[in-house]
Amino acid sequence: MSDSSKHARASMANLYRIFTIPEAPDSVLRKIDEGISENMIGFLQKHIVAEETDLVKIEKDFSSTLIPEEPKFVSEQTEFLMEKVVAQSVHTSSPSFIGHMTSALPYFMIPLSKIMIALNQNLVKTETSKVFTPLERQVLGMLHRLIYDQNEGFYERWLHDSHQHLGAFCSGGTVANITALWAARNKAFGPEGEFGGIAKEGVFSAYRHYGCEGAAILVSQRGHYSLSKSADLLGIGREQVIAIDTDQNNKIKLDSLRNKLVELKTRNIRPFALIGIAGTTETGNIDPLDALADIAESEGIHFHVDGAWGGPAVFSNTHRHMLKGIERADSVTIDAHKQLYVPMGVGLVLFRDPDTLTSIEHHAQYIIRRDSKDLGSNTLEGSRPGMAMLVHSALNIIGRGGYELLINQGIEKAQRFAEMICESEDFELVTEPELNILTYRWVPASVQKLFKNGTFQDQVNANEVLNKITRFIQKTQREHGLAFVSRTQLNPPLHNHQSITVFRVVLANPLTTVEVLRSVLDEQRQISNDSLLEKRIGELDDLVAHSYV
Ligand SMILES: *Cc1c(COP(=O)(O)O)cnc(C)c1O
Repeated sequence: MSDSSKHARASMANLYRIFTIPEAPDSVLRKIDEGISENMIGFLQKHIVAEETDLVKIEKDFSSTLIPEEPKFVSEQTEFLMEKVVAQSVHTSSPSFIGHMTSALPYFMIPLSKIMIALNQNLVKTETSKVFTPLERQVLGMLHRLIYDQNEGFYERWLHDSHQHLGAFCSGGTVANITALWAARNKAFGPEGEFGGIAKEGVFSAYRHYGCEGAAILVSQRGHYSLSKSADLLGIGREQVIAIDTDQNNKIKLDSLRNKLVELKTRNIRPFALIGIAGTTETGNIDPLDALADIAESEGIHFHVDGAWGGPAVFSNTHRHMLKGIERADSVTIDAHKQLYVPMGVGLVLFRDPDTLTSIEHHAQYIIRRDSKDLGSNTLEGSRPGMAMLVHSALNIIGRGGYELLINQGIEKAQRFAEMICESEDFELVTEPELNILTYRWVPASVQKLFKNGTFQDQVNANEVLNKITRFIQKTQREHGLAFVSRTQLNPPLHNHQSITVFRVVLANPLTTVEVLRSVLDEQRQISNDSLLEKRIGELDDLVAHSYV
């Protein structure tokens, strides 16, 4: 090996080289770099192996716990990466991998990410971020304006204010939700008279001071699990995330919510946050946000919208109306690494009132000093990367109009796919798409008839068998490696609230075509003929035959 990727041997000179000398043109790393830069999709297509994901087998390549004593050549390590890591990773940007929320990336994210990593800024304080601080705040302002549409003067006043914040960047939707609920909790149990506030004195003193037995967060049954993590962390308790019933469209039932509010009052539990979901993770439905805003307002509780998935629908002039009421939310979560098409690791939360985040403010002497513009004083995380640069670039390059197209085509494609499913006599659409997510399953025509005419017990039995078949088809398709849909469990009214296993499809990749969707169904149909399913199909046939007797 003659290239400069040779840095093996632990010497000071070699250490110096790995911090300074770029790779020689013939190095493995350079070739990979060029391959990704020239044709990212082609590169991934070529090097990610589409075959069975046997994690137990893969674990064998990652079983040593010894840190090598002697250094390796960079090229040696790179070869290992290509063979064992790249090859055995998941092709998240494949147009036929339509079961996850991890988005495909526009090509420019690759070189821009390199710039971001080369700069290695730290947003915790301005001393290590300089321009990145106003840049991040501008992005927060842009998205704040998209949602809340305040006047020019408002943004002139608050965008770069050192005490107030239009929102916060973080690593994803989970931390965004935690941040929103943290602020809501501190606001609801804030300082009052002698009482120093929940942030200072803790949950027990807060409940005592406010004369309540507990606190609660209200959200529909479809709430994301990050909310119960938040309740756990905030000392509220997971069971105090109150799951409200949903209607046949997976939207929160307002009368159940009102009843629950009354019940909480009689139990002396204080609800401090009401959450509306804009795009449920499993089915992509949107709660009636405007009505929730009314209820939150009349009850005087913080109204948070979890728009981690569906928030970006506000980009679309065609579909924005579905999120009506979002502009009344006290806070809104958006995951940039989902429908803003930015690499993994960035989410954000926006606050309508720029004063809300001051309720979580923390200061230290050597860092994030009072009166500084250090963002670390108002974020859960400390050191943070300059991901805002990528969001900033995406917003500028793709533009409002570009995002509108992305949102619209996803929704249209989901509707088209739903039609395809309804037109096929051996598939059943379980939840219709409102945004770009839908669920369905394979159900032979004869069994569909049984669901219409059979007894309740017939249906229960059929669903039990179908659940196993659905799991088998989903797993087998994933193992074949050509396409991927995810699966989840729902209790739809369509099936008398029985628990059924369904395929879940998320259509956010603009490269996914109708042909791809057709081939996903074709493959699933083919798998249903697998000899390993013979026994199950026999059970279904028996049920059908029996029900006609
Ligand atoms: C994805 C998602 C989250 C969590 O976001 P992460 O980025 O995975 O932490 C929260 N809420 C909803 C509705 C989501 O879809």
